[in-house]
Amino acid sequence: MKILVLNSGSSSIKFQMLDMSSEEVLLRGLVERIGLEESAISWKTDGDQHKKTLQIPGHKEGLSAVLDILTDSEHGVISDFNEIDAVGHRYVHGGEEYKDSAVVTAEDIPALEKLNHLAPLHNPHNLVGVKAMLELIPQVPNVIVFDTSFHSRMPEKAYMYALPYELYEQYGIRRYGFHGTSHHYVALEAAAMLGRPFEEIKVITCHMGNGTSFSAVQNGHSVDTSLGFSTMCGIPMGTRAGDFDPGILTHLLNTGDFTPESLHDLIYKKSGMLGVSGISSDMRDIEQKAWNEKDKRAQLALDLVHYNAKKFIGGYLAVMNGADALVFTAGIGENGWETREEICSGMEFLGIKIDKEKNKVRGKRVDISAPESRIKVLVIPTNEELMIAKETLELTQEK
Ligand code: AMP
Repeated sequence: MKILVLNSGSSSIKFQMLDMSSEEVLLRGLVERIGLEESAISWKTDGDQHKKTLQIPGHKEGLSAVLDILTDSEHGVISDFNEIDAVGHRYVHGGEEYKDSAVVTAEDIPALEKLNHLAPLHNPHNLVGVKAMLELIPQVPNVIVFDTSFHSRMPEKAYMYALPYELYEQYGIRRYGFHGTSHHYVALEAAAMLGRPFEEIKVITCHMGNGTSFSAVQNGHSVDTSLGFSTMCGIPMGTRAGDFDPGILTHLLNTGDFTPESLHDLIYKKSGMLGVSGISSDMRDIEQKAWNEKDKRAQLALDLVHYNAKKFIGGYLAVMNGADALVFTAGIGENGWETREEICSGMEFLGIKIDKEKNKVRGKRVDISAPESRIKVLVIPTNEELMIAKETLELTQEK
């Protein structure tokens, strides 16, 4: 079974072709600068990197270029489009309508369009990718895999905000959560590492990259997560503030020095590690300044990440009455052993103790718990494309 996985953004499309009999990536690549000058498609097979500049005015042309590469007599990995068994699309927001991944046809387009307002920077582009594939290779089934669906079974008390109930009814204001595909993947892999059924374990998954979210996973689904209605809240991120008192927003607005747009920019693009340190949104830059140059604001940015991460872990241990595993993933979670050490320090009371030597790894799947740790602490590199391909396979095989 060969599955094509697509992630359509505003001006780019990431793609991967996987052979699911071996879970091997046959070809991966990127279409970039869609609608701009010097648009290009780059791809990689067996370590060979290629790039071609060509006119790509829209997503349909970009995806047509992807199909051309896949079937190219020299670089391609299939000889015919019919060898593509299904296409899996990363889709950011499923709202309350889509609780699971779904096979999508032209009939679903109006329902998907209704979700655009929930993720205006992502969903419309995801949808354009779906529409283009339905037109280009209509004989191949398409599956959409939502970032929100792993969180769709959170209990009401976890997803509701204590705001007037009408806001939920009228505007859909509630916690949705994001990074669900990543949380789902690493939680499943954690169950495999523990040798226990997924539905029976309790896991806290820490997805720490440019965007960060933690999830409490129980009974095979997320029961709480740190991102909410938007991708702004929870633990401080590269440029996003994370949790802060929303009274600050109305206060700043009343000063007359800010507009709704400038405040949006402030909390999404100018806050987090960048805002506190004044240096960068990238963890490696902050660490370098904090450790090598003893920069106080860089150290404060690190302290804010570590401290808030601890509070979420403590909170999720409380709501689940403990956990079997704590999992670190994504850019910082997989590579930043120093971050893992800081977050896990002083949590012996809660049953978390890491082996500091085992922890000194970057980007590898490893159990870093000390023998006496009641909770297993695991590093599991995420693989959202593989998870999308697995869901796509499962849904299309049933058909
Ligand atoms: P992602 O969004 O998952 O690609 O993660 C990006 C984040 O991972 C950035 O803040 C990087 O600084 C961070 N990162 C990548 N490699 C390392 C590393 N070796 N140590 C610490 N942080 C890292």
